[in-house]
Amino acid sequence: MKTATDLLTRDAGLLWHPYAPLDAGAHYAVTAAGGAELTLRDAQGAEHRVIDGMASWWSMVHGYRNPALDAAAHAQIDAFSHVMFGGLTHQPAIELAERLVELAPEGLRHVFLADSGSISVEVALKLALQYQDACGRPERRRFLALRGGYHGDTFAAMSVCDPVDGMHAAFAPLAREQLFLPRPPAAERTIAGDWIYDEDELQLWETRARRMAAQHAGTLAGIICEPLLQGAGGMFIYPPRVLQVLREIADEHRMLLILDEIATGFGRTGKLFAAQHAGIEPDIMCVGKALTGGYLSLAAMLCTAAVAAALDSGAGTAGSALLHGPTFMGNPLACAVACASLDLLAGPAGTAPGQAPWQAQVARLERGLSSSLAGTRALPGVRQVRVLGGVGVIQLQAPVQVAAVTRAAVQRGAWVRPFRDLVYVMPPYICTEDQLRTLGSALTAAVAEVHGE
Ligand SMILES: *Cc1c(COP(=O)(O)O)cnc(C)c1O
Repeated sequence: MKTATDLLTRDAGLLWHPYAPLDAGAHYAVTAAGGAELTLRDAQGAEHRVIDGMASWWSMVHGYRNPALDAAAHAQIDAFSHVMFGGLTHQPAIELAERLVELAPEGLRHVFLADSGSISVEVALKLALQYQDACGRPERRRFLALRGGYHGDTFAAMSVCDPVDGMHAAFAPLAREQLFLPRPPAAERTIAGDWIYDEDELQLWETRARRMAAQHAGTLAGIICEPLLQGAGGMFIYPPRVLQVLREIADEHRMLLILDEIATGFGRTGKLFAAQHAGIEPDIMCVGKALTGGYLSLAAMLCTAAVAAALDSGAGTAGSALLHGPTFMGNPLACAVACASLDLLAGPAGTAPGQAPWQAQVARLERGLSSSLAGTRALPGVRQVRVLGGVGVIQLQAPVQVAAVTRAAVQRGAWVRPFRDLVYVMPPYICTEDQLRTLGSALTAAVAEVHGE
């Protein structure tokens, strides 16, 4: 078909794509989407129906053109799509905040609606600084973060990303100098729910973390990390015990613990929030990505009553206002769709906590990915295969040949976007067992074809 070729040609050199040169363009145009599937056309005009193994980067959990989300969006468009949030409020924002507080880990009581994940991280960091200032500790201006982390692309978020991979060098000195703990040891969770990791390595890490935190406590406002699973920093899983240690360190040294659940939130790791694997509660939490079921850009920062109260005291130099307020804050359309998405995850009112639909869905993903990726372990060129909840990762021994693996997977009915040495999937929660099998065998065959000897 001529139009797809035409679209790809017009795109190249006109539009930037994520982390790519201007003229890189794209290899496929999306012409339709429904359920877990995308319809793609390539430059030759050939059509490919593929299962979206990426769920549009963690977000499209209920699938494309979900009837409930479509209906929520239509209803809100017919009411009003947007209105400023300064001095005004509306039902979608209030209902969303109430639902988030109800679902979130204990203690999180207050909500700031942001327009993207990165912005929610900016707001979380600002709040931590304003909190320390209000508590009479204005000299605490830095953050403790983990190596290998990813928290977004804006400047403060970027400054707490991994200092080597995280663009610090390109933007020094505008990206602030933060303090980084070494990456914790790797962990695996068996399907039975046991955690496997090297105890001695964890002990060494803990000793070092406690020492570094104690040494620099006087300058540190908070600790920020992605709980349990570092996403864009390498799809790396670490033991829940690490989160308990960070919680203890934060308490001991009067730092705030900020958990970035933007990728892990809403069930993806097998708990509604990854922090729940460790049984800890953050002072501040960020969510985004799957919040609107992938329909619109929206994120939220939640904090405890204690954090909000310190700010509210007005003792800080900036007074009691949290200093952020984007134009599209609390966008009603995004909030209305987010409410519908949370309803789908949690089930109808009165659903018992253990019976929420997302639990059976993510359990199905975990089982499906564990079995469909099992054969991949034995392939030459594969270093490790790991599955956690609805996330499946094939780590190769060498950097992925991205274009070749993508093409080979598309030909077998799967859309993936590998990076570094990682071919990974986090499919929509609605994927059937059949679709998971297709996804697994497409990935296995693509890796074997491109990277097998
Ligand atoms: C994607 C992501 C972000 C950034 O969110 P955007 O909506 O892309 O700004 C921040 N933190 C984590 C853990 C993420 O995965």
